[in-house]
Amino acid sequence: MSIQFREELANLSPYKPGKPIDDVKREYGLQDVIKLASNENPLGCSPKAIEAIKNALDKLALYPDGNCTLLKEALSKKLNLSVNKIILSSGLDEMMDLLAKTFFKKDNEVIMADVTFPRYISTTMMMGAKPVIVPLVDWTYDLKGMLDAITEKTKLIWLCNPNNPTGTMFTKRELVDFLDKVPENIIVVYDEAYNEFVTRDDYPRNSLPLLDKYPNIIILKTFSKIYGLAALRVGYTMASEEIISNINKVRGPFNVNTLAQVAAIAALEDEDFLKKTYEMNVEGKNYLYEEFNKLNLKYAPSETNHIFVNVERNGNEVFVELQKRGVIIRPMAGDWIRVSIGTMDENRLFIEKLIEVLGK
Ligand SMILES: *Cc1c(COP(=O)(O)O)cnc(C)c1O
Repeated sequence: MSIQFREELANLSPYKPGKPIDDVKREYGLQDVIKLASNENPLGCSPKAIEAIKNALDKLALYPDGNCTLLKEALSKKLNLSVNKIILSSGLDEMMDLLAKTFFKKDNEVIMADVTFPRYISTTMMMGAKPVIVPLVDWTYDLKGMLDAITEKTKLIWLCNPNNPTGTMFTKRELVDFLDKVPENIIVVYDEAYNEFVTRDDYPRNSLPLLDKYPNIIILKTFSKIYGLAALRVGYTMASEEIISNINKVRGPFNVNTLAQVAAIAALEDEDFLKKTYEMNVEGKNYLYEEFNKLNLKYAPSETNHIFVNVERNGNEVFVELQKRGVIIRPMAGDWIRVSIGTMDENRLFIEKLIEVLGK
């Protein structure tokens, strides 16, 4: 008799992360390699976060505070929101799995975009729920199409605003119109991992007031992007007390480690670091737009720290060629790639190598 695995796993494959910098150096015998593949913060993180970690190194033998009490209080104060409406997780990846465990049953329908954050579909399928895919229009969420996809079997809708990997956004007005039309028994997960990078005024910069009006919304935020703490795995989620207390039933008892908790508290206070990152990102984005225009390459307008660009050649080939030259990006379907916005030196190097690869 062979081992039987859950049938839900049959159509899933393990996540394929980009190659780490050191692997690429070794493989191609390169001295300098830059990674513009995972939307990480090229400035690192706040020095205050590093200091906080150093001060916590004598606590490694102890289990972390399973309730994340101090971090929750810091968030509560900053966001002006009750601690009972906040929950921490080991990155948002973990939260997406916790949401799936909290809500999904076999045969539930779960609505999502076709080109969006990949964990939405894998975690949905893992639980045996059925993904209902609504194509983007002009690389942007088709909220009307998502409403039209609702049936009596719909359990949850995943929204990513602005969207990874396309970088596009929908407006506050569009979000509110959408929420007004979604029945209250259907959960709307609103992932704003890139909120702090948005430049447009019509973006719902502060989504928290929506919690008062819509008991079915769940807002996701992370310390992995603008805060630059991706290695530590820490994200936060806001929803009604009822939803939060149910997610707490499926959460592991010590899911966020001590170093992540202290670093996140320190990072929250460092507004200067966020501002520096934001400004560098705007400068890099404008530079890359200009260069793409010169090269006549199409791209989606980005409100994030990455750009979705059509390189007029198979994205995977371009990825391999760039990697040989010490630049790691992320290939997407067809002729598209996603490049994270780096420091100006990194952006220039990327463009130089891209020109070489494309023979332009
Ligand atoms: C990076 C990202 C996250 C955050 O992931 P973590 O697990 O917190 O590192 C969540 N959603 C989207 C859309 C992202 O791009």
